[in-house]
Amino acid sequence: MFLRGKVNLLAALLLLALPIFALPAGAAAAALSGRVVVIDPGHGGNDPGGVNPELGLHEKYVNLAVARRLQRMLMDAGAMALLTHNDTETAELSAGGLKLPYFSLRRRAALANAAAADAFISIHTNCFPNPRRRGAEVFYHPGSAKGALLAAAIREQLAGIAGGEGCTCRAASYYVLNQTAMPAVLVELGYLTCASEAARLLDTAYQERLARAIFLGISRYFQAEAAPALANGGLRPRHKAQLAIVIDDFAGATKNGTRAFFALGKPLTFAVMPNFPDSASIAQRAVRQGYQVLVHLPMEPFRGKASHLGPGTIYVHLSDAEIEQRVHRAIASVPGAVGINNHMGSRATSDARVMRAVLRAVKAHGMFFLDSRTTDRSVACDVAAELGVPCGKRDYFLDNVNNIGYIKEQLREAARLAQKRGSAVAIGHVGTTGANTARAIREMIPELEAQGIEFVYLSNIIFQQQRSMTGER
Ligand SMILES: [Zn+2]
Repeated sequence: MFLRGKVNLLAALLLLALPIFALPAGAAAAALSGRVVVIDPGHGGNDPGGVNPELGLHEKYVNLAVARRLQRMLMDAGAMALLTHNDTETAELSAGGLKLPYFSLRRRAALANAAAADAFISIHTNCFPNPRRRGAEVFYHPGSAKGALLAAAIREQLAGIAGGEGCTCRAASYYVLNQTAMPAVLVELGYLTCASEAARLLDTAYQERLARAIFLGISRYFQAEAAPALANGGLRPRHKAQLAIVIDDFAGATKNGTRAFFALGKPLTFAVMPNFPDSASIAQRAVRQGYQVLVHLPMEPFRGKASHLGPGTIYVHLSDAEIEQRVHRAIASVPGAVGINNHMGSRATSDARVMRAVLRAVKAHGMFFLDSRTTDRSVACDVAAELGVPCGKRDYFLDNVNNIGYIKEQLREAARLAQKRGSAVAIGHVGTTGANTARAIREMIPELEAQGIEFVYLSNIIFQQQRSMTGER
């Protein structure tokens, strides 16, 4: 519960912070697009890390809260951002009660190496006998010139935080720095043993600023790395057309194509049906592997088989209070989700009262809505605008026909729209058509990328639209 609250608060904060923190002219986004960054929240699971016994503080919670904020920022900038763990994800009930998992350092480094990450960021919080010791520190492996550059870029940003206590940067031999094959740094955010710093480390606004500083440091590092190529001309990246592919209907049963979609390795978005026994595990696996996750909320259609809906469906006869509660419950069952889209729902999405109740709950979690557009009469985005909830619309369904040639043609259509308009949203499905859809996407990736199409998370497109609507760049 602790985590969920933090994550939702984070989403809400991000929305509030958008006007202040809009990326500088897309430069950071361009430098991060397609990069793989592995974020390692220090300690976690059965290892609390440093403890301030007087204040009852455990380091692992601060590390994870900042790591999740950083992950979201990187993903919104088009990077693949993976966490080495989610703290309680594999907690299991044993005879002695809830048994927390152990995340070995070996596993953390192996994950980054297997992902061929471009950077590795381990996040920690310090403890020290002297309560006056304070400030952030950044460490890198003594033998890594690139690690030193990455550390320096992050240090510079952390030192710039007003009210911060400065920041030092030095070489040190830590296991995760020695055993990772990419530029790697270990960031100590501050000292839990210094009471005033501990209070700040628990403040979500300060956590956000720490994450933002690390984010900017990483993006400056990648910008500097790309700069020589830019100076030589020719390699200047042109403005790319962005395509978000959302795959609907994960969870509920063994679905065709699940493994093939998980193997695609591009920034895709997976919509997971709520309230099934495997909803949480699929969502967590997707987040861990760098996919964005939505709650795929079943909503009442005008026509259609009841058996195709799922547990917790939003029916139009339900009261506002019941609808809101069902949305809260659905969100709770899909950990790591950042938005919601509708499964079926032609009747429910064309009912303004129903959508108002749904979107009130969406707003309470700081999430966005994707209208799957199962009817032309949908009022979802109109109501969302009224409530101030970011909302996007599906442009293409990829697999209305279960034929690989057809699906590829739909992908080309979606790409053409993205070229013309700057971005497009396409929806495909795991299940009946899953194997063909996954194969069509895999085979089309080189062709579309050669045309300058950039695959992005859905949130990239929705927040960009939101920014241009509110006059931000
Ligand atoms: Zn669906």
